[in-house]
Amino acid sequence: PFERGGADPFPHPVPPLSILLPHAQRMLLRTLYTLGVAYSREDIDRVRDRTDLAELAAEVTKVRRSGRSVMAVCPFHQEKTPSLSIDAARGLFHCFGCGKSGDVFQWVQETQSTDFVGALELLARRANVTLTEDPTAKRRRGRRESLVSATQIAVEFFNDQLKKSPEAGRARSYLRSRGYEGDIVDRFMLGYSPDTWDALIEHLKEHGVNTRTMEEAGLISKSRQGRPIDRFRGRLMFPIYDLRGDPVGFGARILEGDGPKYLNSPETPIYRKSNLLYGLNWAKGAIVREHEAVVVEGYTDVIAFHLADHPVAVASCGTALGNDHLDLLRRFTEKVVLAFDGDAAGANAALRGFDLAVPADIDLRV
Ligand SMILES: [Zn+2]
Repeated sequence: PFERGGADPFPHPVPPLSILLPHAQRMLLRTLYTLGVAYSREDIDRVRDRTDLAELAAEVTKVRRSGRSVMAVCPFHQEKTPSLSIDAARGLFHCFGCGKSGDVFQWVQETQSTDFVGALELLARRANVTLTEDPTAKRRRGRRESLVSATQIAVEFFNDQLKKSPEAGRARSYLRSRGYEGDIVDRFMLGYSPDTWDALIEHLKEHGVNTRTMEEAGLISKSRQGRPIDRFRGRLMFPIYDLRGDPVGFGARILEGDGPKYLNSPETPIYRKSNLLYGLNWAKGAIVREHEAVVVEGYTDVIAFHLADHPVAVASCGTALGNDHLDLLRRFTEKVVLAFDGDAAGANAALRGFDLAVPADIDLRV
């Protein structure tokens, strides 16, 4: 599609990609740490070495090679002339149009909407590399899977209760009063936690989940007598998903009686609130397309943005917005808009947490 010779259609200056390397490495390390990946460092390096990023890019977009330089039409923003530079030797890319950069794994993660492990496995197959699992990481991953699976069972249980239980009438009328129909309930897997001590515990037991897992997943707490009880009772349940779309915890809104308006899951191995943004699993695609993320105050605000067909909103989960949240968003866009309630108290509370130590490459607006 591109002809060699002629005028260079790329007006952008091309600095050496090596300056991008430390950033890409940091990103990769963070990804590895976050997911507790079960594959050895050596295998990951072997897959990287055997993957030609220029070839990989050519499968999804137009690639133009001239000498050592490889340019491609950026798949992460709208453009006709290529402004994405590929360093095939190092396996790195950088777009001079939208600023997106990364390595071969991030390329696959972003273009195929998969997580790091998915990208690694795909590229390993492509490169004929057999992956061996690191036993410690494998155990950690096994633990993670059982916590996610217990949380998933709870998500489905609460969702079922919301739709069918007579006791959930109040929750249903609250949702109706906000204009939420049945499709919203299923799209966001909203739920209702019965106002009893052990409805969830009994349900989880039937599904073979042991008490230790329930406790580690933050689904139960202890009564004054030290007996395990359901942590969430008589509340409207908002399941919180991580970036991969795995359910990791809950935000729970009170419907009547005493107690905090919102109760969240405690910190667990899978629910780390400084690293989670409600709605990001649904919003990430739209955030990349629209070059903008909007941080709102609560779960219902996130849903309202989706209803308004502008699904770029996320919210922090029971904590102020911090630098880790911004790092998370920066993987998808450089423009972050804070949209809090008119009252200054809301915005101040949200900003106090990170003392305005905003990284220079983020365009932050209030
Ligand atoms: Zn771009």
